[in-house]
Amino acid sequence: MDSENKKSVAIIGAGIIGVNCAAELQSLGFNVTLLDKAAIGEGCSKGNAGHFASEQVFPLAEVSLLWQLPKLLLDPLGPVALSPRYLPKVLPWFIKFIGNMLKSKRNKNGAALKTLNKHAINYYLPVLKAANAEHLLTQKGSLLVFEQTSFKAVEKQFRHYSEAGIAVKLLNREQVLLLEPNLSDKINYGLYFTSVAHTADPHAICKSIAQYAQTIGAKYQKFVVNKIEHSANKVNLVGDRQTLTFDQIVIATGAWSEPLLKQLNYKLPIEAERGYSLNLEQANQPELTRPVASADRRFIMTPMAQGLRLSGTVEFAGLEQKANMQRADMLYQHAKEMLVDIAPFDTNTAKDEQRWLGFRPSLPDSLPVIGQAPNHLNIFFALGHQHLGLTQGAITGKLIGQIMTKQKTAIDISPFCISRFN
Ligand SMILES: Cc1cc2nc3c(=O)[nH]c(=O)nc-3n(C[C@H](O)[C@H](O)[C@H](O)COP(=O)(O)OP(=O)(O)OC[C@H]3O[C@@H](n4cnc5c(N)ncnc54)[C@H](O)[C@@H]3O)c2cc1C
Repeated sequence: MDSENKKSVAIIGAGIIGVNCAAELQSLGFNVTLLDKAAIGEGCSKGNAGHFASEQVFPLAEVSLLWQLPKLLLDPLGPVALSPRYLPKVLPWFIKFIGNMLKSKRNKNGAALKTLNKHAINYYLPVLKAANAEHLLTQKGSLLVFEQTSFKAVEKQFRHYSEAGIAVKLLNREQVLLLEPNLSDKINYGLYFTSVAHTADPHAICKSIAQYAQTIGAKYQKFVVNKIEHSANKVNLVGDRQTLTFDQIVIATGAWSEPLLKQLNYKLPIEAERGYSLNLEQANQPELTRPVASADRRFIMTPMAQGLRLSGTVEFAGLEQKANMQRADMLYQHAKEMLVDIAPFDTNTAKDEQRWLGFRPSLPDSLPVIGQAPNHLNIFFALGHQHLGLTQGAITGKLIGQIMTKQKTAIDISPFCISRFN
């Protein structure tokens, strides 16, 4: 172990990104302290759809959204919502998002996403093995199904994925129902992504990896970082009642990252893309055996340990506005249309914990920020993983480890540098 690796490192944020960084850095010999204002995995990593969605290599900014958006926004319970009073705040982000629709940018961002996703699932295997949590990853692929979309449009999507090197099969109704017999026969076609995976419990993955990091020596402390004070050799983290000092820090604070980076003079156009989940209680028979996303209804159903989880929707309303749990409840109506048998759900008698709101940390180019702060050599960033933080957690941890030990990184990290916004 060289002296580099004996340094004390604080990781701010114990979501799926932070815990992966903690496990990797501690196993490399750093003295890791994982800090979070809440318990482990209680942020966006808790109630997500559990889909290791390595097939999602296309940036979200695409031109066709521009003419779909007005219709999507007009439907109060549609898949996209914008709080009118939040519009002035989110406008600069939208402008940057639209800028990323340019073909040249889309191609460049798509290529970077592809390198990050390519081995994302493989990077999880050793971490989960070390954490005795291999059972939390199921490799049965996933389905994207179509009810209304024409065959021509489905075939076009199929070609799009195939040309991007994604393992995918185009299925007709019978083939879809053979894989998932509980799906309704309203479904006409499906894309079957054969190499992707899912977990029956994303929160348990987070906690298992954090637990493993602690078993090998990392510490966890509940701590709100209000201020970062930086000098050439040390970083002070100022909390409510205490200041902690470390040799290096990793900022993995997801959707809450902007104020911390602002203190360090880095611009970060991050937006919380709010998404909802609805957890159904266990049915007599599991409704599905793998994640099934609906292309037309824009949501996903994942079989979880406790029952079926319905997840999706994007809401622009910032970090402070109250949750609108009707957006979670509406997912049930969609799922009911798509499944033959489904566990009952009554909005009046549902328990609070069945509904969940999460804040996806999204940058307008659909790429995360991973790397060393250009003007603060003892500060590192691992944030902004948008809809794909679960998927990209292990590879992000691995890259942070390689960067901090000055090794050659497994992939080119230049597209993920903060300097693209500064
Ligand atoms: C409905 C929904 C479905 C999703 N489905 C999927 C999916 O199927 N697959 C997938 O790959 N991704 C999915 N995602 C996205 C994924 O959940 C996120 O990308 C991921 O959880 C982000 O992880 P993170 O560690 O960056 O952030 P978080 O999990 O939010 O962690 C950040 C942590 O930082 C802490 N923190 C913030 N500020 C401070 C501070 N100042 N001091 C101390 N602590 C601080 C917070 O408390 C939090 O715990 C989904 C998201 C949503 C909303």
